[in-house]
Amino acid sequence: MNLTIAGLSKRYGSKAALQDLNLTLEPGIVGLVGPNGSGKTTLLRILATTLAPSTGTINWDGRDVIRDPDRLRREMVYMPQQFAGYPHLTAFEFLVYLAELRGVARGDARRAATQALETMGLAGDAKRQLGAFTPGMLQRLGIGYVVSTDARVVLLDEPTAGLDPFARSLLCDALLRTARERLVVICTHIFDDLELIADRIVALRSGRIAAHATRDAFIERARGRVWEIETDAYPDALDGRVTAQRREGDRSLRLRVVHAFEPQPGARAVTPSLQDACAWLEMHEDGIAC
Ligand code: ADP
Repeated sequence: MNLTIAGLSKRYGSKAALQDLNLTLEPGIVGLVGPNGSGKTTLLRILATTLAPSTGTINWDGRDVIRDPDRLRREMVYMPQQFAGYPHLTAFEFLVYLAELRGVARGDARRAATQALETMGLAGDAKRQLGAFTPGMLQRLGIGYVVSTDARVVLLDEPTAGLDPFARSLLCDALLRTARERLVVICTHIFDDLELIADRIVALRSGRIAAHATRDAFIERARGRVWEIETDAYPDALDGRVTAQRREGDRSLRLRVVHAFEPQPGARAVTPSLQDACAWLEMHEDGIAC
């Protein structure tokens, strides 16, 4: 079971959003990272078959997805950044509708909808129309839908932004439980979640792949480049990129800095995180080998 992308490009007018991507994705959890505008949402939408590429091919288990999108659609769930439903449908009706679109039989679709609502603490809202849902409730509904399906491909665009810790942990848990049997692609800026669950990282920059590696190999590239400094006041000038800052007591400040070498005397080398590794990658125009 794999999803293979070859020579994939997408142009919006004169703007190249994706350029000649080549990638094979296998079961497991893939973290799709990159700065704003690097092409993450465009790639997810193309994989979700809601957007056509300008050139290139996508194969799912050896079948051409662009010519025959229905097969992948039946086996996939996609949660876009702004998860939205038809405002006149109730939450229950909408979940059943989504499952039926994937070819799930009505009885199973109703059972999955009930389970999704219960899991997310939305059982009392089952009969409310989506038009009355807040964005946060819609997002919870979307997560409930994702965790209640057995889709073999799960595409999530910023699924945890703004989500409460309970819902976040529920999603991570559900994804980890089924990670061996399906391909999950998550695009997020919440690196803490990704660091815990991703098997592989695909990093985009300006529409190209800047790195594709196992999570550990990707993070390892930043070893020896991440430093912690303790200071009384924020330094006027500091080499490198600050990835975290924390107040310690009243006076002292602890900064985490990514830099090729000790940014100032007394800096302590620390174990890199995924966020540090992303910063280290962004500091290299030509990408880094993993
Ligand atoms: P990301 O998800 O990494 O922030 P996007 O895939 O949204 O990046 O965007 C990639 C590039 O394509 C950006 O430069 C963005 O401005 C451009 N882009 C995205 N959608 C459109 C659109 N509908 N029309 C024109 N340009 C777009």
